[in-house]
Amino acid sequence: MRASRAAAGGLIGATLLAAPLSAPLSAQSYSSAIDYAAERAAIAHYQDADQRLQDVGWQLARGNAGFCPRVVPAIGLQLQDMASYGAPAIARTAIGLAGDFAVQTAARGSPAAQAGAFVRNREIARLERLDPNQWPAGKAMDWQRLVWAHDHIDAMLTEHGGITVGFADGSEARVRPVEVCATRFELMGEGKAAVADGARVVIGIDFPAFAYEEAVFAGVVAHELAHNVLGHDAWLDQNGRSRRHVRRIEREADRLIPWLLANAGYDPSAAVTFMTRWGSQHAAGFLTVRKHDGWDERAGFIAAELPIIAEAMAHGGRADWVKHFRREIDPAGSLAAKPGK
Ligand SMILES: [Zn+2]
Repeated sequence: MRASRAAAGGLIGATLLAAPLSAPLSAQSYSSAIDYAAERAAIAHYQDADQRLQDVGWQLARGNAGFCPRVVPAIGLQLQDMASYGAPAIARTAIGLAGDFAVQTAARGSPAAQAGAFVRNREIARLERLDPNQWPAGKAMDWQRLVWAHDHIDAMLTEHGGITVGFADGSEARVRPVEVCATRFELMGEGKAAVADGARVVIGIDFPAFAYEEAVFAGVVAHELAHNVLGHDAWLDQNGRSRRHVRRIEREADRLIPWLLANAGYDPSAAVTFMTRWGSQHAAGFLTVRKHDGWDERAGFIAAELPIIAEAMAHGGRADWVKHFRREIDPAGSLAAKPGK
C-alpha cells in the first residue's frame, strides 16, 4: 500500500480493465466454439468486485465530503466500454450489447442507484447529447475511451448540474449529483496492488481484503483514500521519497482510516481488524523493506485513534479529522502533521 503516481500509472496503463477477459479470450480463436456463458461469468466476477469497491468508495467519499479539501459533484455511476476488453466482439455478444457502452455499477446509495434505471449491463446510447460510441476506439484493451466517458460525465455534472443518460431502448434518466471527496475508485483486473496517485484509488482484484466483510475491506480503501485527501503524493514529490518520509505518510494514512470509516457509518474499530488480519497474513515479506512500520505497530497506532474518534462522535456526531490531521510543512520540508485537540 503506497502512494505512487508512477506505480499507479504504470499499473493502469498495463492492465486496468484489460484483464477480466484477456486470460480466457487470448487462448481462444473465433473459429473455435466460444463459451459465452463462461465469458459472462468472468465479466460478472469482475463486476461483482467492482460493485463492492464502488459501494465502499462511495460511502467513504460521500460520508467524508464535509472534511475533504476538495469535493466534486458525482452520481456514483460507472460505465463499461467493450473496447477495454481483450476481445470486444465476444464481450459484446456475451453481455448482449449492440454498441460498446453499458452500465457497470451504480454505487449503493448514490443518485445513480436511487434513479433505479442504472441496471448492470444496460446499454447506454447517449451521455447528454453525446454518443460515446462515436469516439474512436484504439486497439483491443483500449481503456482511454472509458476515461473520456467518465470525464465527460464529470464535466456535465459540473457545468450543467446533472446529466441525462439515454439508453439504447430509447428511454432516458436525468440524474443530479451530490458532493463527494474528489477521488475515483478503480478496480484493476489482476494483481494484489492497492495504490493511490492523488486523484485515484486503484485496487487489484486479487487484493486479499476483497474476501473480508465490508467494514474490514473498507479499511484498505480508506487507507488509500487517506493518501489522496491528505495530499501525500504531491508532498512526496515536493519533499522526496525517502524511507523516513514514506514511513511517516504511511503512518498518517493508517491513523486516518478509522476517522474515514466512522464518517462513512462503519465501525471505526474495523480499521484495527483490517490491519491485524491483513498484516498478520500478508505483510511479512513486504515489510522486509521496512519502509513501513510492522503491522502490529500499525494496528497499535490505529487503535490509539479510537478513543479520540469516540469523543468527537459523542460531541456532534461527526468525526472531524481536519484539525487533527492539519499538515504543517516547515521550510526545511519536514513533515509535521500536528496532533490536534
Ligand atoms: Zn499506503
